[in-house]
Amino acid sequence: MSDLPPLLSHFDDMVDHCYDYAEAAKSAGKPVVGMMCEYTPREIILAAGAIPVCLCGGSAERIPAAEKTLPANLCPLIKSTFGYHVEKRNPFLEWADLVVAETTCDGKKKMFELMAQSRPMYVLHLPHRPDRSASLELWKSEMHRLMAELERRFATTVTEERLRSAVRLMNQERRLRRELAELMKADNPPLTGRQLLDLKSLISGIPEDLAQYQRILDAARSSPRQRNGHRVRVCLTGVPLPHGAERVMDIIESQGGLVVCQENCTGLKPILEDVDEQAPDLLDALARKYFATPCSVLSPNDGRLDSLRSLCRDFRADCVIELIWQACLTYDVEAHRVRELCETGLHLPYLGIQTDYSPSDSARIAVRVEALFESILAKREKMSAG
Ligand code: SF4
Ligand code: SF4
Repeated sequence: MSDLPPLLSHFDDMVDHCYDYAEAAKSAGKPVVGMMCEYTPREIILAAGAIPVCLCGGSAERIPAAEKTLPANLCPLIKSTFGYHVEKRNPFLEWADLVVAETTCDGKKKMFELMAQSRPMYVLHLPHRPDRSASLELWKSEMHRLMAELERRFATTVTEERLRSAVRLMNQERRLRRELAELMKADNPPLTGRQLLDLKSLISGIPEDLAQYQRILDAARSSPRQRNGHRVRVCLTGVPLPHGAERVMDIIESQGGLVVCQENCTGLKPILEDVDEQAPDLLDALARKYFATPCSVLSPNDGRLDSLRSLCRDFRADCVIELIWQACLTYDVEAHRVRELCETGLHLPYLGIQTDYSPSDSARIAVRVEALFESILAKREKMSAG
């Protein structure tokens, strides 16, 4: 009997744990800082004595309220996040002493302007050319500005010692989550993609979460394997799947797939790189780590293709499925290069799925995924027979 299920269930109540943690922190006088993207350096927020909370919306129910202000033809992640804002339904956003946002995609940037009309907000200027050294310099100066802003707002000093200890904590969290993700490299992985996706927290650096990651790793390494070996191994790429927006992952796995790796911001993308703990200039090290995130808002974004190449190889993907939220132009246009890489570079079948948070197209998506898996399994059978 596997020890895993009771250990995994700790994360079923992840939002409640985060609520209790943030409420206790607020009562103890600690500020809460909301985050909107994986470019935000959590280490600087932690070193300023604040609690970093992810505010990305994954609920379809919040979208109608957002559409009273925002255009309907906008990414559901942006609309859901904004819906929580107008309906005041996200307790973490209501607690936030500051929201840190950044200049990523156009929809988010313009939504932030509206949100900033009634919330304290600080917007980091993310340069979009990763191939220019001036971009890294600018991003580094943004790290300095963010630190100064937090020090000013929260009347604190981010000492080198506090920053180094936050770097160590976040490296530890990334390492544990990376090791959990690497369990999926096995022929017969102990987790499903959905179980792995759920091993995360809205708040970074909670000691109990880190301890639980370690317990799960220990149990998974010694547990009898689940019967996942026969499934079609999928590399899922594209947009993130925030809490509540896991529908496509569930469809893939209900059709006989196993998402063995996620090249996206709720998967491996933000945790592949660590921050150099020994670096003499920690803000420089933080700038380098975060600027290496290969998001489609960068141009060119060759780093994403390099990452996909190595992830598909290391996790032995049978196919690549790309999820694109409706009206996400950057991922949608970049999909052409991803398809090309899969079909002609990696010789892997590729399926693009464009959808939003509404379940109305679930049956149609399931049919397309089923057809993809059938062709892969038929090929597998033919090869083993011949
Ligand atoms: S996909 Fe890009 S914009 Fe979205 S969270 Fe990730 S880095 Fe930020
Ligand atoms: S999914 Fe695309 S459109 Fe939506 S917030 Fe992320 S980058 Fe912007």
